[in-house]
Amino acid sequence: MGLDEVDRKILKELQTDGRASFRELSSRIKVSTPTVSSRVQTMTDNGLIKGYSVLLDADMLGQISVATLLEAKPSDIDRVVNRIKDEEIVRQIHVLSDSRVLCVLSFYDQKRYQSFVQSLSNIAEIHRIDNSMILRTAKELPRASLTDETGLLIKCYYCGHMIKDEGVKIKLDGKTHYLCCGVCAKLYKEKYEKMKQAAIGAAVA
Ligand SMILES: [Zn+2]
Repeated sequence: MGLDEVDRKILKELQTDGRASFRELSSRIKVSTPTVSSRVQTMTDNGLIKGYSVLLDADMLGQISVATLLEAKPSDIDRVVNRIKDEEIVRQIHVLSDSRVLCVLSFYDQKRYQSFVQSLSNIAEIHRIDNSMILRTAKELPRASLTDETGLLIKCYYCGHMIKDEGVKIKLDGKTHYLCCGVCAKLYKEKYEKMKQAAIGAAVA
C-alpha cells in the first residue's frame, strides 16, 4: 500500500480543489479516469482521505480566534481532550510532547468564550491555562504535506520497508500506525510504549 507519484498528484490536486471531478483530475495529471477513480477509492478505503470540506475565511466571518495552551499530567491528557473535543468553539486540538495541549478556539461572542474558559477552570486535571488571541494567521495550510517523500508515509513504521499488500494497521492513542507484518507490529508496539514511558518520565522529572 505505497503512495506513488500518481497518488501524490491526485492528492495535491484534491487538496487545492476538492471538487475536481475524476475526469478533470484525469486530464490534469494525465492518467485515465478509471485510474483516478480506483486510486481515490483505495485512499478513501484505507483512511488516508478523511473527507472533503469547504475552506472558509474565518476573518471574513468576523470571528475571533484564540490559541489556548493547557497543561495536565500526561496520564490525564486523554481525559482533558475528551472533555473539550466536542465543543463547537474548539476548532483544533494538538496534543504536544511536553504534557501540553494546544487548542485553537474560534467564536463571535465574548460571553461564549468566557464561559468556555470558565468550564476549563472547572476541569480539575488541567493545572495551567494560557490564552493568547490570534491577531492574524500568516499561513494556514492543511497539515498533511504532499512532498515527494510522501511515499514514506506508508512505509513500515518499524523496519522502513514499503508495505506491500495490506500490511498491518494498529491504533495507538487514536492514531493509525502502519506496519508491514505482524512481527514489525509487535516490535513497534513495544518500542512505542517504551518511548512513551520515557517521554512521560522526562516530563515528570
Ligand atoms: Zn516492517
